[in-house]
Amino acid sequence: MATLDELLQAWVDVAGIRTRSQFAAGDVAAEAVREHGRGVIPVLAEHARRSARWVQMVIAVAQTFPPDVRERYAELPWTVFRQAARDRENPERWLRLAQDEGLSERDLAARMRGRRPARWQGECDCGARVHVVAQEDAAGETVRCPRCGQDLGVLETR
Ligand SMILES: [Zn+2]
Repeated sequence: MATLDELLQAWVDVAGIRTRSQFAAGDVAAEAVREHGRGVIPVLAEHARRSARWVQMVIAVAQTFPPDVRERYAELPWTVFRQAARDRENPERWLRLAQDEGLSERDLAARMRGRRPARWQGECDCGARVHVVAQEDAAGETVRCPRCGQDLGVLETR
């Protein structure tokens, strides 16, 4: 039987494969468009059984982040790259922020809209380490320990 650590490693590996495969799809599609024009987009979509919109999205994200940037942020999920690519001026700064603060796609989208997340981070008396991140309008809501149910405080925006 596999240990939890082994399964977690496999889990992380699979997530990384997904990110790399989306970038690879974007690279191939970008090349196809360069060589054969935008008319290939619906053909590519049909062959991948995806929408033309998806093809355009993987192209845009792949063209936004060159291989060295993808490598530098290799542990981020594809959805975070996709979100960061929406900033055409400085997309990499959002990757850095997501990496430094462990932001999900949703958290990052909120930050990019200029909203601060409401959060609570700390340790409960029972030993559970708790880190809650929610939308800004959740500020003031009570945080309870997911293990023992103790009242820990309220979500704050900082
Ligand atoms: Zn607790």
